[in-house]
Amino acid sequence: MSSPTVGVLALQGNVREHVAALTAVGATAVPVRRPAELAAVDGIVLPGGESTTVSKLLDTFELLEPLRARLRDGLPAYGSCAGMILLADEILDGRPDQHQLGGLDVVVRRNAFGRQVDSFETDLEFAGLTGDPVHAVFIRAPWVEKTGGDVEVLASVPDVTSNGADAGEAAGRAVAVRQGPVLATSFHPELTGDRRVHGLFVDMVRAAIG
Ligand code: GLN
Repeated sequence: MSSPTVGVLALQGNVREHVAALTAVGATAVPVRRPAELAAVDGIVLPGGESTTVSKLLDTFELLEPLRARLRDGLPAYGSCAGMILLADEILDGRPDQHQLGGLDVVVRRNAFGRQVDSFETDLEFAGLTGDPVHAVFIRAPWVEKTGGDVEVLASVPDVTSNGADAGEAAGRAVAVRQGPVLATSFHPELTGDRRVHGLFVDMVRAAIG
């Protein structure tokens, strides 16, 4: 199997953990901080962190436009948590001045799970991944509130209404989505040692480079 070069945007967040996970599933993983490094990758991972901060750092490191351009050209991308927010075409509860990379036809809500359930862990059925459910760690996570026609929902959590009642699986909130070569999760698979989500992404990169 080929070993595609997968970049990890290294401005903030769990860069080392993503590099380790990508390496474990057969990619050549490299941190990306400069436009020249970005130009050399076959795919890119956008780690969690704080999307407003990453947005500013993308400006400072002169990566905003190069990254937008590569995404427009079809660069495979995987965004976790803040990374999902950056990839979304529309952000609710964002800061008015925060930049979006866009490319993923979804509306996401920042810090969607609210204060009481700021951070939590749960097991999720994840379409296309075989074996046990995925143990998912959520940290001040967004959810996907609306998806465009080409977006596939891969995992959801049951909806939690404002009074805490469980609205049931059918009204669940999407927390993992895919649109062509773009993958996003609200949670952090790099923290659990389960490499299946990174494996899925590296397979998407392999498919894209043929
Ligand atoms: N709440 C963060 C944001 O808005 C995301 C948190 C995370 O990436 N763990 O960017």
